[in-house]
Amino acid sequence: MTDSKVTPASVAVRVERLSFRYPGGPDVLTDISFTIAPGEIIGLVGPSGAGKSTLLQHLNGLLPSKLSDTSTNVISIDGVPVSQPTISEVRRRVGFLFQDPDDQLFCPTVFEDVAFGPLNLGLTNDDARQRVCDSLASVGLAGYEPRSTLRLSLGERKRVCLAGVFACQPSVLALDEPFSSLDPRARRTLIGILKQFSGSQIIATHDLDVVVDLCHRVLLLDGGQLRAAGPTADILGNAALMERHGLEVPWRLRR
Ligand code: ADP
Repeated sequence: MTDSKVTPASVAVRVERLSFRYPGGPDVLTDISFTIAPGEIIGLVGPSGAGKSTLLQHLNGLLPSKLSDTSTNVISIDGVPVSQPTISEVRRRVGFLFQDPDDQLFCPTVFEDVAFGPLNLGLTNDDARQRVCDSLASVGLAGYEPRSTLRLSLGERKRVCLAGVFACQPSVLALDEPFSSLDPRARRTLIGILKQFSGSQIIATHDLDVVVDLCHRVLLLDGGQLRAAGPTADILGNAALMERHGLEVPWRLRR
């Protein structure tokens, strides 16, 4: 199935006929096509094993097998094809949040972790310090710079990861289960942060009530195929469609 609602001039993310399998395994993604407009927030939903994480990882070239395949540039970000020669440019544009903060945090202190991206982009120490300060404040963690990344709650670790993403000033956020394991207050805080982000977002999540709150459109993935795409209420409010793909209509859309 192809979702082609967005005109070419207004495309932040373009995925065209993407198919993928892990080495030696079966197809995990089959013929996926969609676009995301600037500023648009997309909910990526589907049962476990549908291929959501695998799809997100393609958006900033985290899956290296595709990077060597320069003959088919099936993904582009702001018009830049995702390929080996452009990988730095693509990663500058796409901020990727791993499901598990422990896959993302690797420095002893919050400051070092959040500063890593800006310094890697070539910013001066002073500019990087300012970015760290601003991005920690934007996620409600002002003053956390000297704290150990190992001595934070899960919600705080997720927000530090997000601060590291924001510090690089990406135009697109690709977020893998950002709300999992958060308590209600941390979840609400994160929703507020994402609502204020002005770029495009694609969010893989099982938290369908958040999708109703946050997302303009939904892509429904199952068995590695795009089964439905459209306005959030149309997709998530369709009880037969949801049941067919092992999902439930979220509370806020139940009549
Ligand atoms: P989702 O995020 O929707 O739960 P995933 O993208 O994580 O789905 O997984 C899709 C399929 O790919 C699953 O069958 C999973 O077992 C398989 N898979 C995920 N990662 C790997 C990997 N590194 N190697 C081989 N198979 C994988």
